[in-house]
Amino acid sequence: MDKTIGIFGGGQLGRMMAQAALPLNIQCTFFEATTDCPAAALGQVIASPTENALQQFIASADVFSLEFENTPLADVDVLTQHKELYPPRQALATAQNRLLEKALFDQLAIPVAPYKAVHSLDSLKQAVVDLGLPIVLKTTTGGYDGKGQFVLRSEDQIAQAWAELGPAGALIAESFVNFSREVSIIAVRGQNGEVKTWPLAENHHHHGILSHSIVPAPDSADLQPVAQDYITRLLNHLDYVGVLTLELFVTADGLYANEMAPRVHNSGHWSIEGAVCSQFENHIRAVAGLPLGSTDVVRPTVMINIIGQYPKSAEVLALNGAHLHLYNKTERAGRKIGHITLMPNDRAELTSLCRQLAKILPQPLALTQDMHI
Ligand code: AMP
Repeated sequence: MDKTIGIFGGGQLGRMMAQAALPLNIQCTFFEATTDCPAAALGQVIASPTENALQQFIASADVFSLEFENTPLADVDVLTQHKELYPPRQALATAQNRLLEKALFDQLAIPVAPYKAVHSLDSLKQAVVDLGLPIVLKTTTGGYDGKGQFVLRSEDQIAQAWAELGPAGALIAESFVNFSREVSIIAVRGQNGEVKTWPLAENHHHHGILSHSIVPAPDSADLQPVAQDYITRLLNHLDYVGVLTLELFVTADGLYANEMAPRVHNSGHWSIEGAVCSQFENHIRAVAGLPLGSTDVVRPTVMINIIGQYPKSAEVLALNGAHLHLYNKTERAGRKIGHITLMPNDRAELTSLCRQLAKILPQPLALTQDMHI
């Protein structure tokens, strides 16, 4: 092996990073709570709760990265005394705290919905006065897939919202954005400062969980350069190395940033088959100090998450051109356990594939009406 990359986290993102690393003769090791994790098939897992585990992990690789956004900063601080971590600590610390994240967006003139910090019932009442209703109340740390959020539509919900989220610690109140759709931009920055960006993905959610992404996002020619500019500002400001994701709302007034993820992202899984170089390979290339690959699209692509329950593999693979990715996770309601990539030749084929897929997948799939490539 030419190099070993140590990765904080051992979930499906780590698994797919390691899959992309192997052809480059790069090995991955993982730091994860349990050795029984999706990445285990691809490399050594160091179980984080065991004694001296962090030291063992630090010794296991040449250079380090992460796939888990809530990687403890204390662990990062120990690591960076000895070895390099990409992306940098500041990117991780900022993404872990919605208030810091919003402040950075403001600083870089990236538009965001008006927001207020909330630390008491009184400050929540004041935020309602200042921002107007509706607002989205969120925990500043730890939320994901829409968890730790409360949409406040009327004043008589204030007490309930505070009772539900107040005990969780610091909160942020954001004006409710009337968006027409949600998109994400993913970019990679190399160690020499080179930046490459994939086309915008249009993302559709079901109960707060990403259901499917369409790439390139339809009718996004005007949005692409704007989103590209925003993410490039972030990458350069943070002196970032690796893949960064920026989630955006499309509104009548243009794009508003929602949040960033300092890692490869579910809405970039399409790129394994749909782009010349995937988000996983380019992340590995950046962390290893190698030249970046082309982010051009091979074919318009639709990525559908498998949530909760596995379909029959043979039925999925019988669909023309379908690619199946299973993460070796146990089935559980609401859990992302795999994904399917479709690369239809035209709309008619897309419609037909989606109809067939809806019958095969155990989960409800509201696909056909909103896929308009
Ligand atoms: P987040 O955890 O911030 O990504 O939020 C999860 C989902 O909640 C987003 O994908 C949006 O659909 C919705 N959401 C979050 N913030 C807002 C907002 N300020 N206005 C409207 N919808 C929001």
